[in-house]
Amino acid sequence: TALRQRKPDWIRVKAPIGKAFTETKGLMRRLNLATVCEEAACPNIGECWTKKHATVMILGDTCTRACAFCNVKTGMPRAVDPLEPQHVADAAAELGLEHIVITSVDRDDLPDGGAKQFVKVIEALRKANPAMTIEILTPDFRNKADAAVEMIVAARPDVYNHNLETVPRLYPTIRPGARYYASLRLLESVKRLDPSIFTKSGIMVGLGEERMEVHQVMDDMRSADIDFLTMGQYLQPTPKHAKVIDFVAPKTFEAYGAIARAKGFLLVSATPLTRSSYHAGDDFAKLRDA
Ligand code: SF4
Ligand code: SF4
Repeated sequence: TALRQRKPDWIRVKAPIGKAFTETKGLMRRLNLATVCEEAACPNIGECWTKKHATVMILGDTCTRACAFCNVKTGMPRAVDPLEPQHVADAAAELGLEHIVITSVDRDDLPDGGAKQFVKVIEALRKANPAMTIEILTPDFRNKADAAVEMIVAARPDVYNHNLETVPRLYPTIRPGARYYASLRLLESVKRLDPSIFTKSGIMVGLGEERMEVHQVMDDMRSADIDFLTMGQYLQPTPKHAKVIDFVAPKTFEAYGAIARAKGFLLVSATPLTRSSYHAGDDFAKLRDA
């Protein structure tokens, strides 16, 4: 068997057990919803699901791309489920969410890249609970980005997130289907179309990036007016995925966080276990109430 890399102490997480965890899982299966928590093998699932925080992954569980860091399965996805928007709204209501994060697989096979489904989900959520804040985490929509972003921005999510994932030098190996500057431009266009929407992006560290490269990514994000930043340790989901080059120490994360705040991000989450959606609702509520 392939040797798994030993994780440092600061990566140890709570085991996914308990009543709330089982109920969250049961709810998702009953409503036929996929979650990124499960599909990405997120290390925080024990903590998040116990608190009934889950991030729904719309447009199915099969992605048309195969990024080297990602555990989501690749292949030819099924047809879009017309019941999915209502099911997402039902799940949000049952979980009692005040803030929801919705993400999706990449659907390069669809003429709109899946943008319409994002809009339908936002509409269903607004209808069910106008007070809920909505955060979406979208793909890059490749050559359909302009139309997709325009359509989604018009539906007015509260937070528009799209991850840069890593430094530009590592794109060819880690995120081969994507272009660094196309992703930056996507986020910049969200802000240009509607400055009242908060924009958010994130990267993983531990993939072999240099500190100066990380600082450059922060500068690029600020040049594109990105408001929120997340940074977390990359973990190898299976031995077939990209290797962890290093486990970044918690104090290095603290230093990154301090630099990011100095560069002007409104919200920064930089810890080994930070993920795009980790504590997203709590952080956003703090900002809103400040
Ligand atoms: Fe799910 Fe996000 Fe929590 Fe991970 S951090 S378990 S993806 S809600
Ligand atoms: Fe995973 Fe997104 Fe890459 Fe698909 S596009 S493989 S869901 S990271």
